[in-house]
Amino acid sequence: MNSDLVGPLKALLKTGKRIVLVPHKNPDGDAIGSCLGLQRFLEAHNHTTHVISPNDFPEFLKWMPGAESVINFEKNRGKAEKLLRAADLVFTLDFNALNRTGSMEEVLGKTTCPFVMVDHHQSPQDYAEVTYSDAQMSSTCEMVYHLIDGLGAAGEIDTQIATCLYTGILTDTGSFKYQGTTPTTMRVAAELMEHGAPHTQIHRHIYDTNRVERLQLLGCALQNLVILQPYRTAYITLTQEDLNRHNFQKGDTEGFVNYALSLKDVVLAAIFIENKEEGIIKISLRSQGDFSVNDLARSHFSGGGHINAAGGRSEESLKATTARFESLLPLYKKQLSQ
Ligand code: 5GP
Ligand code: MN
Repeated sequence: MNSDLVGPLKALLKTGKRIVLVPHKNPDGDAIGSCLGLQRFLEAHNHTTHVISPNDFPEFLKWMPGAESVINFEKNRGKAEKLLRAADLVFTLDFNALNRTGSMEEVLGKTTCPFVMVDHHQSPQDYAEVTYSDAQMSSTCEMVYHLIDGLGAAGEIDTQIATCLYTGILTDTGSFKYQGTTPTTMRVAAELMEHGAPHTQIHRHIYDTNRVERLQLLGCALQNLVILQPYRTAYITLTQEDLNRHNFQKGDTEGFVNYALSLKDVVLAAIFIENKEEGIIKISLRSQGDFSVNDLARSHFSGGGHINAAGGRSEESLKATTARFESLLPLYKKQLSQ
């Protein structure tokens, strides 16, 4: 962490505060892990803390220490608003634009206390008193480690904090294989292991707790795979009906898009998932090499993310959305064939 941030952070945390920690909507392992890890650290420093998530999060993260006390904004709006009104400080973790919190955006916009942003996406908004933003970082969980270390408190990391932070690093690096994984990421993970993170158990909780319906939904997704060989692109679609038939639960489609990207010679992969309740198609984009799905998502699908992993949405039908996606590919043909 840039040493310029240490002073302002220390000043904000000098006395016991009422602190709210907020992950992005549809929080993943990194968002929940960073909130719960930092929450436990702050609690040990005499702060009163609450994690308020914009909506629910997947079952495969619910084992995490502290997960049971996360407040779901969608389900407990009154309580959440009260806590935000009373807060002295808000940490926003793993996002850098308030619209990433969905229906919580309006309430956060009206919250008057100082904000601290800790995030690793590009182009941060300017809403925080302290902005710790670094797009080179593997994960927000790695940044929370550097933040705690920057405060001179790495020695205070206990098994629970280590477990939460290790989980987010694991999920955001694709088990340490993505480009964003640096030697420092590995050193941080090693430190977290030394502080008690049970790496085998964590891996099992995240990746090996499938329901048979989820595996069958994956089978369905793979049947729906479309390969556009001239553009080195592959995409998957799932209709609401596909989801219903397989008793879809939140998080079930996590990682499906990677199967499209795993095809030899494919450099751009997408999954389009129909959500009838929200009236949208949720889109996940992945790429290999220099092709920026962050740019693609920002320019055409009201989204964003990182160079090789981004997401967005469309308010058109599933058919119209994939047709539009296909119609964009000629614009990128040169980049895709490099
Ligand atoms: P996923 O495809 O796994 O949902 O998300 C991949 C990456 O893109 C994550 O870093 C996530 O934060 C980002 N992302 C996903 N959906 C959106 C979105 O709607 N807007 C923005 N700005 N980023 C997104
Ligand atoms: Mn992240």
